[in-house]
Amino acid sequence: MRILTTIEGLQSCLAQWRQPTMIGPHPSIASVGLVPTMGALHPGHMSLIHQARQANDRVIVSIFVNPLQFGPQEDLTTYPRTLQQDIDQCTVAQVDALFCPSPETLYGQSAPTPEQFTQVVPIASMTTHLCGAYRPGHFQGVTTVVAKLLNLVMPNRAYFGRKDAQQLAILQRMAADLNWPIEIVGCPIVRESDGLAYSSRNQYLSATERSQAPVLYQALQSAQAAFAQGERDSQRLIQQVCTTLEQVPTLQPQYVEIVHPTNLQPLEQVTTVGLLAIAAYLGKTRLIDNTLLRSRQPIVAIDGPAGAGKSTVARLVADRLGLMYLDTGAMYRAVTWHVLTQEIDPADEVAVAEALANCQIRLATEPATAPGEPGLTRVWVNEAEITQAIRTAEVTAQVSTIAAQPTVRKVLLKQQQEYGTQGGVVMEGRDIGTHVFPAAELKVFLTASVEERARRRQRDLLAQNQPPVSIEALEEAIDERDRKDSTRRVAPLQKAEDAIELLTDGLSIEEVVERIVALFEDRLHRN
Ligand code: AMP
Repeated sequence: MRILTTIEGLQSCLAQWRQPTMIGPHPSIASVGLVPTMGALHPGHMSLIHQARQANDRVIVSIFVNPLQFGPQEDLTTYPRTLQQDIDQCTVAQVDALFCPSPETLYGQSAPTPEQFTQVVPIASMTTHLCGAYRPGHFQGVTTVVAKLLNLVMPNRAYFGRKDAQQLAILQRMAADLNWPIEIVGCPIVRESDGLAYSSRNQYLSATERSQAPVLYQALQSAQAAFAQGERDSQRLIQQVCTTLEQVPTLQPQYVEIVHPTNLQPLEQVTTVGLLAIAAYLGKTRLIDNTLLRSRQPIVAIDGPAGAGKSTVARLVADRLGLMYLDTGAMYRAVTWHVLTQEIDPADEVAVAEALANCQIRLATEPATAPGEPGLTRVWVNEAEITQAIRTAEVTAQVSTIAAQPTVRKVLLKQQQEYGTQGGVVMEGRDIGTHVFPAAELKVFLTASVEERARRRQRDLLAQNQPPVSIEALEEAIDERDRKDSTRRVAPLQKAEDAIELLTDGLSIEEVVERIVALFEDRLHRN
């Protein structure tokens, strides 16, 4: 890992990274992800770095305690500085470069003031609420330093935590308004096991304060619970938060507010989405936390041709987002199992249709046991658990006969849509975004070129010790399958108009998952 302290060193390093390299016949330029921090790195920062690592060829982390964003009474001089530990953590996380300039390097002096520099000024209405109301000049200090860092590095993507939701909204707006071709990526809040959001400032807490600090999270959760029960009135939701916070009498709330997550304007009612944010003092330490209130759990629809990796991706996306993977394959298997145990001929469409009247399927996804390993989907038919039973060779041999029957598809469509009424599902197929869940919050159309899918298929065959098939033959078979899938009578392959197309050529499964999670986060906060 390069450790850079000067602008010259930084620019020379970036120039090296951006030398074009030939990938096959095409020149390619490395993509760069930037993670700006103030150091004292903790798992919250590391999750940003991890996300940047997954989506970029090169990752640069900056560590800079920015004087411009601290008020005169704030903790600039005592802010934790743990450079050697930060270097060690970044090395382990395979960061390519660490940029840690001094104030002199960035501003030409050790104690800069806003009057001495051109400033980037955020939209006033975005700084009048939440922290902006109590930290005058803070966000201007943030936008100014982030603008400098973005201009110096010109990354493809820059990563920020949702822990600082106001900061993220302001920076996204800044990048859009100033036409920076840089993606400002928001990352989920990382918490300790008792719910306290990681923060470099948690180090200031005494042991007693540390044991009391999770009350912020508990208060947010209590509002989430009221919201889930149908409470939409902001004042009552805020009151719910305040009542929970009162459990710790020494805690001094600074604000509890509900605003729109993008424009940061106060909401009287949370009709679709609201950002509920808290700032409070515990002793001398100022803590902030927030949560998003959403009226319905979102639905993610993933469509695309066979062989684009949909089902693995959909399972992993569901895991990452804490949503349920609606496993249609398991549903068809469940019907097949039901038909076989009733001793019905699977090809007898009428008898199968009759049997369906008494076939209530229930699914539940278990949490993942290891990273990259999706959780198991457990399956019941009429209260009998058949998770294992649907994986037998008999079921496997008959499932395609069952799945081709229009009545089966119609009945299962109804059951799938029933799951969808609560939201909170990820589903993949060919017509999910157009037919099954046309109102899905996020629709992704996952594709890969025929060549790439043929290569993947060849790799799979090899891994399964199957006889080798030439790439040309596989490409032909895939073309034929695409043609059939697009023209089939039942559930033809269709891309929804509002779907985002994701070409997966050259991307690993993890990279595809990361992109969908980022799209999801983005969508969630834009609505
Ligand atoms: P800081 O070093 O406090 O300026 O934070 C650097 C970046 O890490 C900011 O984008 C923060 O929002 C993000 N961050 C800090 N704590 C967390 C956390 N607990 N979870 C997710 N992101 C975080």
